[in-house]
Amino acid sequence: MTTRSAWVSYRLKTKPQPGDPVVGSFGGHPRGVRANQWPRCAVCGNPMCHMAQIMAGPWLDLGGATRMSVFICHATGGRCEDWDPWKGANRVVLHPTDDDSLYDGPPTVRVYRRKLLTVEQPLDELALMRRVKHEGLAMSDALDELRHDKIGGGAVWLHGDQTPQSPTGQGPMRLALQMTTNLVSFDITPGGMAYVFVDPFANDGVGRLLWQGGS
Ligand SMILES: [Zn+2]
Repeated sequence: MTTRSAWVSYRLKTKPQPGDPVVGSFGGHPRGVRANQWPRCAVCGNPMCHMAQIMAGPWLDLGGATRMSVFICHATGGRCEDWDPWKGANRVVLHPTDDDSLYDGPPTVRVYRRKLLTVEQPLDELALMRRVKHEGLAMSDALDELRHDKIGGGAVWLHGDQTPQSPTGQGPMRLALQMTTNLVSFDITPGGMAYVFVDPFANDGVGRLLWQGGS
């Protein structure tokens, strides 16, 4: 594995083989989330559904956190505006300690089937963009090569750049995770993409989720 860089991404795939690093999971029941910590939607008050859990590692820098857990409200069919990073209808939890325990959680309207995740070899997205600049590679073709579930790198936007800005005023947040509806058919419209950003300027580490719908 190479060193972490804002321009290096790691494509996610399911079904890790022996020797592959297990970097986390999509769906299922999250580890290390006690019932009293389970996020509830700030709009409707219902317990949110678990989407993903990714460990920190050579593939992902979470500051001091050991893992992140991603939740979204599916209780009202989108009326909570669960695509918005600021409304509180989704949540990115950063865990300060390693805890693999399974705790009871509240019943939620949806539990996605659990799929363990591993990563492919790191991809140098800067090298790909250099081919766009110097070798005539079409930008749309370059973006197609990044239109998959991945950790890090740049976001492939479906409907324009919506990178959240750090509330500290120091700049944009950094992409931690990009999720399609291919590995797990997340309820963000077929062909939609979800993006998890972390705030590199906040001391306590803050994550934000947003998503854009498929056409
Ligand atoms: Zn809600």
